[in-house]
Amino acid sequence: MNRKERFARVIERFQQHMPVAETELLYRTPYELMVAVILSAQCTDKRVNMITPALLHRFPTVSDMAGSTPQEVYEYIKSCSYPNNKSKHLVGMARALLSEFGGVVPSRIEELMRLPGVGRKTANVIAAVVFNQPALAVDTHVFRVSARLGLTRNARTPLAAERQLVQYIPEKLIPIAHHWLILHGRYVCTSRKPQCHLCQLADICPYPDKNIQT
Ligand code: SF4
Repeated sequence: MNRKERFARVIERFQQHMPVAETELLYRTPYELMVAVILSAQCTDKRVNMITPALLHRFPTVSDMAGSTPQEVYEYIKSCSYPNNKSKHLVGMARALLSEFGGVVPSRIEELMRLPGVGRKTANVIAAVVFNQPALAVDTHVFRVSARLGLTRNARTPLAAERQLVQYIPEKLIPIAHHWLILHGRYVCTSRKPQCHLCQLADICPYPDKNIQT
């Protein structure tokens, strides 16, 4: 099976078995998603979803967050990983949104990456989820699952993996492909003990260390 065929078969399988795939972060507006994605670095979506209701009740708008201080924000997010840095990033992000973008979350990746706390991965998530752009955020799950499935080859960095993936995935499927790979990695193709006996892609997966124990 050549690379193009492999991508086609993997995509077809995901379309069959996971026709709907969306972020598990809870949000109502681009600003709220931005807050949730910043909090989600090295932290589970479940934990983030526990934190955001009170945080966003206290800081419902960009202006509210921009007018706060990292010390105050810290109190709402201290059960998350890296609360010191993240509280600085949240306030900095809101202030930059206000001063540079009129309080509106921009759609371009280069603009998003100018905001404090927003790296390429976060910018890609916002661009894809909010603006349905062909941006593919590569997190640890996407990185691992893509390599095991033979979609990426010898990719040493998330950026290298992203470049290989977007070369073969049709543009309009890139936003959902991100969620396919994350959800598959989170619930089936887990880091230590992939559940290959439950995997809908097992017959086309070339990973040599499949876990076939039930
Ligand atoms: S067969 Fe196993 S290693 Fe391959 S994608 Fe499925 S869970 Fe992951």
